[in-house]
Order: sequence, then structure tokens, then C-alpha cells
Amino acid sequence: MSVIEATTRKARARAGVPDGEPLLSVQDLKLHYPIRGGIVSRQTGAVRAVDGVSFEVFPGETLGIVGESGCGKSTTGRAIIRLENPTAGAVVFGGRDLAGLNTRELRRVRLNLQMVFQDPYSSLNPQKRIGDLLAEPLVAHGRASRKEAGERVTEMLDRVGLSAQFKGRYPHELSGGQRQRVGIARALMLDPTLLVLDEPVSALDVSIQAQVLNLLRDLQAELGLTYIFISHGLGAVRYISDRIVVMYLGKVMEVATTAELFANPRHPYTEILLDAYPAPNPHLRDKERTVVEGDVPNAAKPPSGCVFHTRCPFAQDKCRTEEPRLGGGSHAFACHFPLDAGRPTAASGNPETTKNPGVPA
Ligand code: SF4
Repeated sequence: MSVIEATTRKARARAGVPDGEPLLSVQDLKLHYPIRGGIVSRQTGAVRAVDGVSFEVFPGETLGIVGESGCGKSTTGRAIIRLENPTAGAVVFGGRDLAGLNTRELRRVRLNLQMVFQDPYSSLNPQKRIGDLLAEPLVAHGRASRKEAGERVTEMLDRVGLSAQFKGRYPHELSGGQRQRVGIARALMLDPTLLVLDEPVSALDVSIQAQVLNLLRDLQAELGLTYIFISHGLGAVRYISDRIVVMYLGKVMEVATTAELFANPRHPYTEILLDAYPAPNPHLRDKERTVVEGDVPNAAKPPSGCVFHTRCPFAQDKCRTEEPRLGGGSHAFACHFPLDAGRPTAASGNPETTKNPGVPA
């Protein structure tokens, strides 16, 4: 049995999810922040941080979410574990819609969903020693006595590659990589089935990034964990993810397996992201690079039709008026004119972009 099959089996058994069923299903998730104005603080608009996001996560897999800063990927992660309350949509975890749960039930289910943050320093109380920080969740939820918690802490520190001596240290005495190991250990103390990893290696040096990514992989295989890995760094996402969701302006542009996405991107935005990736995509090596101009539009006033049309070199009239739906089965994309499928010619490119790079042959 391969490592992937063994991890999937372990994760399915742990989560009690039947074969072929997702562990998590995000359905048309929206998170709009109201904009208020005037003397009576009336709502005058909304920032559409997450605007109709849908995807599934299967037991034992790593689903990467990638996109430029401000695309809504971190907000999606926070809405999934209810650090922020969604405006609409459903988050079904282990067969139950989290929106339908009362506070007590939600608290219980959330023990199975933990988050690891980019900067663990901000989530670790600087006045507490690492041993106490790790024991805290176990004791607070009545999962262990102080003594048992101490033993579990030693065991968990060992799992994340730190010695028992770290129990007595304070967060400021640790390096960035060691702090992130503690952040991962803390998230694992309650034995969750799914971790939402929000830019977990973005603040680390490249050599340390690789160590933390390898640690995450090992822990996944050992414990049967399921991950949502959020990052703007394509290298890290490619290394660790089984499938990737590409987001832009609060919406999903493309979803595919990692190999398929890198070999055969169908959405123009994905191709642009891959072109900007430092290790050039071999598929694109001989083609002229597609360049995107301008900034991401304001999420309070998203463009009509396809939200990417103001920056897409291949936009047509239809793109400005009609929103493309996410379709295409296991390799899904939201584009009227996907790559290699009757894409418009360079001569009829987007007049809203200042530079039209032309259509690769
Ligand atoms: Fe959007 Fe049209 Fe560009 Fe496709 S071709 S990404 S639908 S603007």
C-alpha cells in the first residue's frame, strides 16, 4: 500500500467518513464585510472578501489554496473554522453543517478543526512557557490532568522535532522555525482531524521552510491528518498539495490536481500565476509569457461579469457581462475562453489592459 493510500485510510477511519465522501464541503461560502456611512451608520455597501466559494476536501489529502494577497484565501480559512461568521453558504464538516450547530455543539466540533497561523508568535502568549502553552488546551477542555498533559506535551514536542527542554522556554527564546513547530504542536494537542494552515511557512527562511513542510508531510502520514494549506507561494503549495484551488477577488478561478494544474492550466489567471513562479513551468517554457497589468480591483466594487476581465489579456465582450461558472468536473475552471479551447486571438485582446502579450502558439 502506498503512503498516500495508507494516509487516506487512516484519515477516513479517524474521521469516520465513508469511502469517497469528503471530510469537508464548502458550499457557496460568502463573507461580506458591511461598509457603513452617514450619521445613522447605514450600510452603504460591502467588501466581498469571499464571494461564493465552493470546494471539497477529502480525508488525508492536502488541498492548497493559492492566489494574490487580498484574494480571500485566508478569510476563507477563517470562515471555515468559524473565526469569522460567514454571510451565507454552508460549511459541512463530517456530514454536519456548522451553521446549524448551537454554540456548545460548535465548540465540540471545532476541536477537530484547528488553525496554524503565519506568525505563531502573535498566537502564543509571550508570558507563558512553551510547556504551559501546549498543556493549556488539554487541561481547559478536560482532556487530561496536569500530570498527563505534561507527558503529552513531551510526546508532542518530540513529534515536531523539539526536545523536552523546550518546555521551560518562552516564545521569544525560540527561532522562527522552532516557534512554528510549537504552533503546529499546539494545534495538534487536541487530536484534530483537519488543520487549516494559513501561510505557515511564508515568514520563514527557505531552508527552514523545507524542514517545516517535511514535518507537516510526516505528521500527516503518521497521524492521518487532512490539511487546507493556504499560501501565496506557489513553490510551497506545489510541494505539499494534492489538489490546488486558485482564488481571485473572493472567487474560485480553477481547481485541479497539482500535477494537472501545473501541466495544463486552463484559466488565464492560473497561467499568469505560474508564469510568475520562479521555477518556470516547463509547459510554458517556449511560449511568450503572459503578463498581467494593474492592481487587483476593489472587492467593494468588483468588476461585472468575470471579475478578472479588467486584467485578463483575453477578455471579450461576453466576459464583461456574463459571469463564468465554475465547471469542468475534476479539473474545474471559471472561464468563458479557457486556454487551449478556442481562446480569442491577440488582435481582439482586452482594451482595458495596457499591454496585450498575444496568444502563445
Ligand atoms: Fe475571464 Fe474572459 Fe479572461 Fe476567461 S477570458 S478569465 S472569462 S476575462
